[in-house]
Amino acid sequence: MTEKGSLTGQPTATPSPPPFDPDALALGEAIRRISEQVVPIRDTEWVALAQADGRILASDLSSTLDVPAHDNAAMDGYSLAAADLSAQGDTVLPVIGSALAGRAYLNQPGTRQAVRIMTGAVMPAGHDTVVPQEFVTVESGHVRIPPGQERGQNLRLRGEDLRCGEPALTAGQRLGAAECGLIASLGMAEIQVVRKLRVAILSTGDELCAPGAPLAEGMIYDSNRSTLRALLNRMGVELIDLGIIQDHPVALERAISEAGKQADAIISSAGVSVGEADHTRSIMQKLGQVGFWKIAMRPGRPLAFGRVGKALYFGLPGNPVAVMITFLFMVRDALTRLGGGRVEPTPLLRARTLNPIRKRAGRTEYQRAMLSTDADGTPRVTLMANQGSAVLSSMSRADCLVVLEHSSASIPAGGWVNCIPMRMLG
Ligand code: AMP
Ligand code: MG
Repeated sequence: MTEKGSLTGQPTATPSPPPFDPDALALGEAIRRISEQVVPIRDTEWVALAQADGRILASDLSSTLDVPAHDNAAMDGYSLAAADLSAQGDTVLPVIGSALAGRAYLNQPGTRQAVRIMTGAVMPAGHDTVVPQEFVTVESGHVRIPPGQERGQNLRLRGEDLRCGEPALTAGQRLGAAECGLIASLGMAEIQVVRKLRVAILSTGDELCAPGAPLAEGMIYDSNRSTLRALLNRMGVELIDLGIIQDHPVALERAISEAGKQADAIISSAGVSVGEADHTRSIMQKLGQVGFWKIAMRPGRPLAFGRVGKALYFGLPGNPVAVMITFLFMVRDALTRLGGGRVEPTPLLRARTLNPIRKRAGRTEYQRAMLSTDADGTPRVTLMANQGSAVLSSMSRADCLVVLEHSSASIPAGGWVNCIPMRMLG
């Protein structure tokens, strides 16, 4: 996979002025190179509908039924044939019986006869209109209907939700609440999905201590694995947690080569910055093909990417905010596609920045910010004071990320920026 130089970290031929680092790879180009290496898994399995939430649909699904299967009432009231309504004034019709949901009204109504009908009940033969009960008066077995009714009102027609044979869901779709309900409405108790992606995670660094243990002098708690675990849980993957691995060549080599045998993807954090990349690079050379990139983005400049065994390997930076940002904008879509899913673009929200933003063209930046609205409802953002890539608390306090595109320069206060509300990121 190196024949096209795709993992070598060489910049593309964009003749823009020298960016922050002349060797840096534009984020869009890094994403493109990663995407080239993704070969979606094809293994599928059948799961019970109760386990289908969050899974990726393996193949297109067409409706095997008309949904609903019968014309039925959309309101509680009285069914009748519109042809029996008087041209002027009230219409008075005898009520000959009741149609309840789940129990068909089997008698065929005659001309000028109404049937009491409940929401969801099958329409009596020949009836094409439902008058809601609120609009009528009932007296001695007759219903009085005011003028102004329309043929076909308050009906749900057979097949109006889905017609038999009509496409209902498409392969690669992530099943959520609406889809689980829709599959149930087709009468299916099981559904074929792509098998779960197996993703191995590990934290590297001699300074790392697992939460729960006392913190020795100079150590820090390993937060990256908890962040990655949460991000991956939302994607419904099968997690292989390899824990904390010391900055020791043998330990690292053993952990990563083991992960390469079990996982579809491996995500490590730390050990890829300039000072440490050489150490990691020599291990990676033995285990697979991995490129060490400097990406023109902030946070998240260093990234190792390639293949170890059959697994895709992502060596994320060490700083906790950089881990989140590189995961969200470089790893997540690749994993979705690897797991057979379709990637949907994240919608951007336009907002006015309350702060002036200093930036030079040639790097993509993600700044943590708080969203609010003007008196007239226009979205606006306030940048968080501390944008340090180790400052996880501001990642938690922020409710959106301001996306400053590669080519954008400084923006004055009041200027428009693109934002992504955190809740869109999961
Ligand atoms: P490195 O990429 O190894 O130079 O790490 C960059 C920074 O991230 C250093 O300050 C590390 O201590 C910190 N760091 C590395 N791994 C973790 C982790 N798992 N949790 C929290 N911080 C980390
Ligand atoms: Mg380190």
